[in-house]
Amino acid sequence: MSAPQLRSLSLGAGVQSTRLLLLAAEGHLPGLDVAIFADTGWEPRAVYEHLDRIEREIAEPAGIPILRVSSGNIREDALGPSKRFASMPLHILNPQGTEGLSRRQCTGQYKIRPIKEQVRQLLGYPHPQRVPAGVFVEQWIGISTDEVHRAKDADVAYMKNRFPLIELGFSRSDCVRLLRSRGLGSTPKSACLGCPYHGNSQWRQLRDGSPEEWQDVVEFDHAIRKGNARATAQGTPLLGQAYLHRSRRPLDQAPIDRVTAHEWSGRQGDIFDAIADAELENGDADGCSPWSCRSGAPVSAGFDLTA
Ligand code: SF4
Repeated sequence: MSAPQLRSLSLGAGVQSTRLLLLAAEGHLPGLDVAIFADTGWEPRAVYEHLDRIEREIAEPAGIPILRVSSGNIREDALGPSKRFASMPLHILNPQGTEGLSRRQCTGQYKIRPIKEQVRQLLGYPHPQRVPAGVFVEQWIGISTDEVHRAKDADVAYMKNRFPLIELGFSRSDCVRLLRSRGLGSTPKSACLGCPYHGNSQWRQLRDGSPEEWQDVVEFDHAIRKGNARATAQGTPLLGQAYLHRSRRPLDQAPIDRVTAHEWSGRQGDIFDAIADAELENGDADGCSPWSCRSGAPVSAGFDLTA
């Protein structure tokens, strides 16, 4: 196989990708040219602060530029009547009382799309130019050994995915330990403030630790009850009701408080109940990854950048 034109890190600024940045900066993984952070415009303040910090303390001293790319603000797009909105995975209560989940298009639109556009720019072939065969970026993705099933090839020939944490045998807890030893133990999960995939612990952290951000998501939750504003303005509102919390109750009334030890011990559920409980509590362990959907379904950018 020919050599890549450059090596790029998909930097979500969560535990695994921060670990990869450290590996590169400390010389254990040589050759990283650039790191790309896709900004949905609605990450928690802690993520932006962490990103600034790792840029200042790790990337810049190592000569690794961090490029921040964006294809819009997900919150503003959901609530703007004239904005085009790529659907979030909202929890739906249908008119008949059945439950559903709206299609997840946001990751493709707000994360994958701007990264692909940036990669094409770096290669010198912006959309819609065709990227010649053999011209590609080696893209490093922070997937650890405990989530190996998420490691997949890119869907375009100009990106070749590489998973250095898996190659090196690092689990998520190995990454956390290493980050702690470097004073980065508070590395946050990277995901939109109001991501419907949040578990109860994330909602509680917001409510109890960041009242302004909690107020922001409560207002958003209320505002999307009939779906996104553009659909409503066009006369095609959601027939059911949309919620951020999986209980399908308004966020400020949802049962987000911890299940007590007594309740846990009294449960008679099987392993599937246990898994569902853990997810309800913790959400997705790693926040929102551009390159691997937690549902196992491929994440599509929803537009063609394959030429
Ligand atoms: S964090 Fe959640 S809302 Fe944001 S892009 Fe990812 S899946 Fe969508």
